[in-house]
Amino acid sequence: MTTPDRTEEDAAEATLRPQTLDDFTGQKTLRENLAIFIQAAKARGEALDHVLLHGPPGLGKTTLAQIVARELGVGFRATSGPILQRAGDLAAILTNLQPRDVLFVDEIHRLQPALEETLYPAMEDFQLDLIIGEGPAARTVRIDLPPFTLVGATTRAGLLATPLRDRFGIPLRLQFYTPEELLLIVRRGAQKLGFALAEDGAEEIARRSRGTPRIAGRLLRRVRDFAMVAGRPADRAMADGALARLEVDRLGLDAMDRRYLRRIAEYHNGGPVGVETLAAALAEARDTIEDVIEPYLIQEGLVMRTPRGRVLGEPGWRHLGMTPPAGFAI
Ligand code: ATP
Repeated sequence: MTTPDRTEEDAAEATLRPQTLDDFTGQKTLRENLAIFIQAAKARGEALDHVLLHGPPGLGKTTLAQIVARELGVGFRATSGPILQRAGDLAAILTNLQPRDVLFVDEIHRLQPALEETLYPAMEDFQLDLIIGEGPAARTVRIDLPPFTLVGATTRAGLLATPLRDRFGIPLRLQFYTPEELLLIVRRGAQKLGFALAEDGAEEIARRSRGTPRIAGRLLRRVRDFAMVAGRPADRAMADGALARLEVDRLGLDAMDRRYLRRIAEYHNGGPVGVETLAAALAEARDTIEDVIEPYLIQEGLVMRTPRGRVLGEPGWRHLGMTPPAGFAI
């Protein structure tokens, strides 16, 4: 329920997506900087420099990329690292762009290395080197591309090869949202869905959304279901009951988060324990642990990343209702 990863059901997200930079809640510094870069690029009549958006899933990378295109008044094309298999696929997309268009590449860290190399001259000089034919008859042709803006999204900037990362003139990091920002998002979401949500109900959802708008939207839709079926207004008690049924606890953590914390507490005495060991024990991919589960737990101080491994923080022990072992110190 609280996985920030996109699921089938999130197709309904489109209705909740902010359409303009002013509509976009939170990420204040990022938004202000982006507004200036967009305004300057528009005034010069040039393509905006390439933008790299990085941060945990569900914080609004796709939304921002669409907003960038809309604010620039240009076309928007979207693809993703794992979808692009052959250089020809990428060439087809690039050669079909209109001048100053935005090309959004989600999960850009999963791009094949050969395609990454095709991207370098495309990003730098708006040129594409294509190999045509095979064997001795093979030759390289150079194609001029229209100037365009690549907006890349990744969960961690560190996953990108340095030469690729260096080609983004505008790297922007998305932060988790504060409960106040999420409250605004939840209120507006309820309005858009035409659903009567009491203020204390909205606060409860915002507080338990793990700092993530995608989760806020999902919890909002589920609380609406419970309220409809119960035929009662969605106030705090209703939201609390619905979220408890969904096993979302008072911090917004789900069953997987709690399994992760409990594993460190119960099997490793609070740590340190290596991420590989945790991944094996929890039967989760290491990337999922590092990109999806840990960032929020680390931000909230429930767990800490140390050179020797993961260590449970004092709030982590408290959240589990356990006391740290005697002599436990970080
Ligand atoms: P992923 O990396 O998994 O693709 P993402 O970071 O691209 O995720 P989005 O798809 O842009 O996330 O956003 C997820 C949902 O959260 C969307 O429904 C969007 O409407 C909502 N959302 C994101 N940011 C905001 C915001 N600042 N204000 C309101 N709603 C937001």
